[in-house]
Amino acid sequence: MPKEPIEIDCEEVWRQISNYLDDEVDSELRDILASHFKNCSHCSAVLDGTRNVVKLVGDGRAFELPASAGQNLYKKLNNHLSGGQQKKRRR
Ligand SMILES: [Zn+2]
Repeated sequence: MPKEPIEIDCEEVWRQISNYLDDEVDSELRDILASHFKNCSHCSAVLDGTRNVVKLVGDGRAFELPASAGQNLYKKLNNHLSGGQQKKRRR
């Protein structure tokens, strides 16, 4: 039996976020992501941030923005995540 579908890595979630917002994920993955966003405050924050970026692009003006904005976001998240893990380990 496979694992609970909700147990998806945050990193995998971030990878799929733009597809999710573009409606390019299948319904199964969509459900998995949706429940992950409900349970993970980090990822729901990322979703909010990414949504803003996508909205900006939706205006049809800033087409070069999302790449760099997304990368910065991703870097921040990686720092955040590895920082959190280190904190845990120090105990
Ligand atoms: Zn998460």
